[in-house]
Amino acid sequence: MNTIDNYNFSGKKAIVRVDFNVPLNEQFEVTDDTRIRAAIPTIQKLREKGAAVILMSHLGRPKNGPEDRFSLKHVIKDLNKKLNTEVLFANDCIGEEARQKATTLKAGEVLLLENLRFHPEETKGDAGFAKKLAQLADVYVNDAFGTAHRAHASTAIIAQFFPHDKMFGYLMMKELENLNKVLKNADHPFTAILGGAKVSGKIEVINNLLDKVDNLIIGGGMMFTFIKAKGGNVGKSLVEDELIETAKDAMQKAEELGVNIYLPEDAVVADKFDNDANQKCVPSNSIPEGWMGLDIGVESSETFRKVIENSATLLWNGPMGVFEMDNFAEGTIDVAQAIARATEKGAYSLVGGGDSVAAINKYHLENKVSYVSTGGGAMLEYIEGKTLPGVAAIEN
Ligand code: AMP
Repeated sequence: MNTIDNYNFSGKKAIVRVDFNVPLNEQFEVTDDTRIRAAIPTIQKLREKGAAVILMSHLGRPKNGPEDRFSLKHVIKDLNKKLNTEVLFANDCIGEEARQKATTLKAGEVLLLENLRFHPEETKGDAGFAKKLAQLADVYVNDAFGTAHRAHASTAIIAQFFPHDKMFGYLMMKELENLNKVLKNADHPFTAILGGAKVSGKIEVINNLLDKVDNLIIGGGMMFTFIKAKGGNVGKSLVEDELIETAKDAMQKAEELGVNIYLPEDAVVADKFDNDANQKCVPSNSIPEGWMGLDIGVESSETFRKVIENSATLLWNGPMGVFEMDNFAEGTIDVAQAIARATEKGAYSLVGGGDSVAAINKYHLENKVSYVSTGGGAMLEYIEGKTLPGVAAIEN
């Protein structure tokens, strides 16, 4: 298989799918540059190896063609600084301007194409559109793990036009290596910690993890569907009644497989969804009428801490409570710190998904876990055991 390291880029034009879908403030400045930083090693290596580099990405979800607030020109300043060069820009990702700028692009130079999603053909996975992108270059590199679960023109379809000249970028390689380490090669005890709002988004993750893990910790809003399934009273906490049977099935399967499911024994409840609401800590299976659980309680934190600190492999996705509100962030902070401590003691820890990553960054623990994944949806689908189109397009 081609890799960036074994491929000869000399005199070649490389088109690289990156994920520059970064948040911008009202002045259109980049407020979190994690995704740009993550793409830099691939870009710099290609330049070093003599490639002319053409970058393509999406930004946001434009619905009806070009819109200034979704223009990738807003990332140029940041990119120039990180690459220490003047990045060229094409105002459309296909068409005459892009073609001309790509044709005259020299070795070591970088051209950024305008937002791919200004063309609806991108998300439709249109082969004609993919071909036009492909015609700009000699070799295709996919380094956009965040969109690897989409069969879009630039993430998957384009690869067919480079049967012998396609490869993963360094970020993609790193993401797959780290995920495979957890999913295929984990040291035991292996503990997965799942939280976040809903069971519906995570049930396939739970099902696929059950025959891999020793312990499954469930917190966040999703815990209440499980607690209700066990006959608990959850007041007006978030519950998906239609998934109660599914939750029962998962608990039954866990028992058969000898997997310990840890549900919080206590919860911090509030009388409204507000940081300044009245709050108290109660047993999680007897939440009073009119109250809702917004965080795990101290006893649960302590139980989870012990399980986490005794694990050799840890996978964390989803906050334990509504951590965006400081009064309901304690459980998430405790879990994040326990993961950091376990890592310090030698465990391997992988954290992924927008909110858990935001939590890890907020509490400055990003360097205290083994790996922070850049892909939310893509990571979850990979954990579900699905084939990611962006990965299959390079491997097959
Ligand atoms: P997800 O995108 O499914 O990982 O969910 C993340 C969101 O779940 C965050 O915005 C949290 O505020 C939210 N969340 C966590 N715990 C609870 C809870 N007990 N009730 C309602 N929402 C929650």
